[in-house]
Amino acid sequence: MTMQLDDRQRAMLAEMGVRVFDALPSAVPAAPVPAPAPVAVQPAPQAQPAAARLAAPATRPAPVAAPVTRIPTGDRPSGIDGMDWEELEAAVAGCQACGLCERRRNTVFGVGDTQADWMIVGEAPGEQEDLQGEPFVGAAGKLLDNMLRALGLDRHSKVYIANVLKCRPPGNRNPEPAEVAQCEPFLRRQVALIQPRIILAMGRFAVQSLLGTTEPIGKLRGRVYDYQGVPVVVTYHPAYLLRNLPDKAKAWADLCLAMNTLDS
Ligand code: URA
Repeated sequence: MTMQLDDRQRAMLAEMGVRVFDALPSAVPAAPVPAPAPVAVQPAPQAQPAAARLAAPATRPAPVAAPVTRIPTGDRPSGIDGMDWEELEAAVAGCQACGLCERRRNTVFGVGDTQADWMIVGEAPGEQEDLQGEPFVGAAGKLLDNMLRALGLDRHSKVYIANVLKCRPPGNRNPEPAEVAQCEPFLRRQVALIQPRIILAMGRFAVQSLLGTTEPIGKLRGRVYDYQGVPVVVTYHPAYLLRNLPDKAKAWADLCLAMNTLDS
């Protein structure tokens, strides 16, 4: 099916640097293909229940900086696979499984509609996200918001946005494999609870965590993968797109593939 675009969506795409032709090439909805050969992921130890915490509001007030000493224990709360949403959020908030807990100001659990059809998976919180406790609130987030708007979506309805890592890596360095492995059960449970109809994996760490492959995005794009029975479309990370403007058109094609897959 081809997408009908109204003036607002066309304006949005123009802002993204994407030229729209009247007859958009329809992305062929592909049958889900199995994920490529998995990367070895170390099993993480299980332990300790998480402290209870009330569900956080979608928009959080700026936190008051308070010095907190957290010692990573290497343990994650047990029973993640059976947690409900509030238990899961509390488990993330109290997690001390890896060294990222030491310097975080907030955990960044996710934002949006917990009944969403669309789930967006990014990499990890940056400085602003760590401060505000919400994913994608910096420059990359603005681009993501524009992309969502072009699809007739926004971060608070029909979409849920989460990251692979729930804590900021210092200095925005890349996530380490052990950190990805420690955080993976949280993301897996978020997907199981939301049961989205499509997942957009943005960037290589989302792809590594969901599909277990280190293949580059450029090689993986254009096909539909599977994560726990949910179709997955792979695309570039918005922060990468900000540095590589010509690839925005490819990202738009990926969004069209996701949209067509969801519609099929
Ligand atoms: N990049 C991400 O992958 N996630 C964020 O929340 C912010 C920037």
